[in-house]
Amino acid sequence: MRKKISRRGFFNQSIGFGLGSLLFKNFSRYKSDPSSQIPLIISSHTNDTGKKAVEKGWEILSGGGSALDAVEKAANVIELDPEGLGVGWGGLPNENGVIQLDASIMDGKTYNAGAVGALENIRTPCSVARVVMEHTDHIFLVGGDALSFAKKWGFKPQELLTEKSREIWLRWKKKLNEQDDWGPPEHLKDRNKKSMSNPDSLPRLSGTTNVLAVDKNGDVAGITTTSGLSFKIPGRVGDSPIIGAGLYVDNAVGAAGATGRGEDVIKSCASHYIVIMMKEGKSPQQACEAACMMIAEKYKNVNIDFLPGENFVAINKKGELGCARMPRKRPARVSLRNQSGYSVYKGSAPFGS
Ligand code: ASP
Repeated sequence: MRKKISRRGFFNQSIGFGLGSLLFKNFSRYKSDPSSQIPLIISSHTNDTGKKAVEKGWEILSGGGSALDAVEKAANVIELDPEGLGVGWGGLPNENGVIQLDASIMDGKTYNAGAVGALENIRTPCSVARVVMEHTDHIFLVGGDALSFAKKWGFKPQELLTEKSREIWLRWKKKLNEQDDWGPPEHLKDRNKKSMSNPDSLPRLSGTTNVLAVDKNGDVAGITTTSGLSFKIPGRVGDSPIIGAGLYVDNAVGAAGATGRGEDVIKSCASHYIVIMMKEGKSPQQACEAACMMIAEKYKNVNIDFLPGENFVAINKKGELGCARMPRKRPARVSLRNQSGYSVYKGSAPFGS
């Protein structure tokens, strides 16, 4: 059994040991995947679509193709699945019932990046981000102008809502859900008031994906793509398209991506932090756990009982991988495809539920 620690326990212990030593005391047993090898591709989606996605990416990698092509084609599989409620076509809309997509791509080989935010009507936002990266001197386009840009490059505007996502949104509207985004930030909310919330309210649904790969030449690339937090305030852009927050790639080190409450990922620049941790010698698993600890540490003086729901994934240049999430019961998982075949790698949930 993996040892889990409570938030208070973590901070009490950390006074004695210091953050670094605590990390190694509790988590050093998490060794990176022993079958680590390149090329490889991973996705934070572990359902059938996640499997299809990494298999698609693997077709490219195993044929000698680039990590960049592999992550794009793999992420497109997830974006184009109308059943997935958190990415691309069929994602959940904002509070007005409009789907606004965020996506980023980063290419380690060329140290280049592209992103789109609050993009409507395009089912493959990560491919638009790739055009921004490769055909402009900019990194980030948003809103209506990102849509005009996509149209000029031949992307066809299409409906993104499916009957399923429209129906979920209507249910949310009808219940006047109290888990909306108005009022103070989540970590400063009045907890007593929250406990009186409508018992029928729909839980916040999420489903962003991160796709990261290393190709046979050792080049690294990554994508994060999402419809963002369900029922968000129109115009809200999350962490996914922000380089350093929802995604970061360093060709000399590896790549990291985040899903979950984007506000915390933005404030902590979590993906960049994970890559820096790997650069300093941590395994991808240890680096993802270090990001969980770092965020918890930030909140400890503001609201010790608050832990945002975050999920981190990472790979390094050697083909090792890791993932960690907080504060869930089940450990984080990723789909992995390499020469040994398809598998689901189990990481950790350092704080438990
Ligand atoms: N990180 C995404 C956002 O904040 C949401 C998610 O991963 O579910 O937009």
